[in-house]
Amino acid sequence: MEETNSLTIGCHLSSSKGFYHMGKEAVSIGANTFQFFTRNPRGSRAKAIDPGDVERYHSFAAEHGIQRILAHAPYTLNACSKDPHVREFALETMADDLVRMEHVPGNCYNFHPGSHVGQGSEEGIRLIAETLNAILRPEQHTTVLLETMAGKGSEVGRSFGEIRQIIDRVELSDHVGVCLDTCHVYDAGYDIVGDLDGVLEGFDRTIGLDRLRAVHVNDSKNPFASHKDRHEKIGEGSIGLETFVKIINHPALEGLPFYLETPNELPGYRAEIALLREKYNLIKKVYVQTERNPIQ
Ligand code: FE
Ligand code: FE
Ligand code: ZN
Repeated sequence: MEETNSLTIGCHLSSSKGFYHMGKEAVSIGANTFQFFTRNPRGSRAKAIDPGDVERYHSFAAEHGIQRILAHAPYTLNACSKDPHVREFALETMADDLVRMEHVPGNCYNFHPGSHVGQGSEEGIRLIAETLNAILRPEQHTTVLLETMAGKGSEVGRSFGEIRQIIDRVELSDHVGVCLDTCHVYDAGYDIVGDLDGVLEGFDRTIGLDRLRAVHVNDSKNPFASHKDRHEKIGEGSIGLETFVKIINHPALEGLPFYLETPNELPGYRAEIALLREKYNLIKKVYVQTERNPIQ
């Protein structure tokens, strides 16, 4: 195992060739984790899991230090649609995904909370929690993550408060966490460029940093509070490289996995991973950790 430092970083990869292929692809671009769609993003039928592929993946992952992979639900699902059939489809797809995730236990499954389409965010929050209450099982080995959204259209999850309200209504909330998307929160009006500390303190106050399980690292094509959700390459958008360096080195985000969803092919991802690894200041982190947790 050649690990240059302890930053857990990867990017979104195509799952069409299976887990083992994704593992090899991740290692080929310097990643030690990755994100993937559980099925076609439009939400169609999922390919059956190949146990041989999963087995090859697990030994490869152990050998190469790949950990905390993140599944992403199809982004077309809407757990809080006005249409009961659309809600039912989201529920069934997510329930099926969670069964499939038991083949790779101990990881997270991220989804977009949904759009309330005119019903109001309160009703949206209620319906999303209802969906989670229907699919979560005490014995599952996957943590379901609510992604922070940009607030495009009638998206629910545009504020930390909305995310908190969903979690508060979930019975088996031990199985629920949050994925913070840098582009989305910046577009939603959280100023991670001017006041990263303040935004993370707000997250901690409102949701609790213990719920934060994953970070999507994306620059934004649009200005602050634009509610647009268009990802840009790291350092080429309105957020800028300096903020990403602060994010990956922030003590409050210590040890979390970071996933790139920037508009890139593999070589572009390889370059971004190398750049962020280079900017990851291990020495400072060790110092901060030692100060906070003095050796006893
Ligand atoms: Fe997403
Ligand atoms: Fe995202
Ligand atoms: Zn996005």
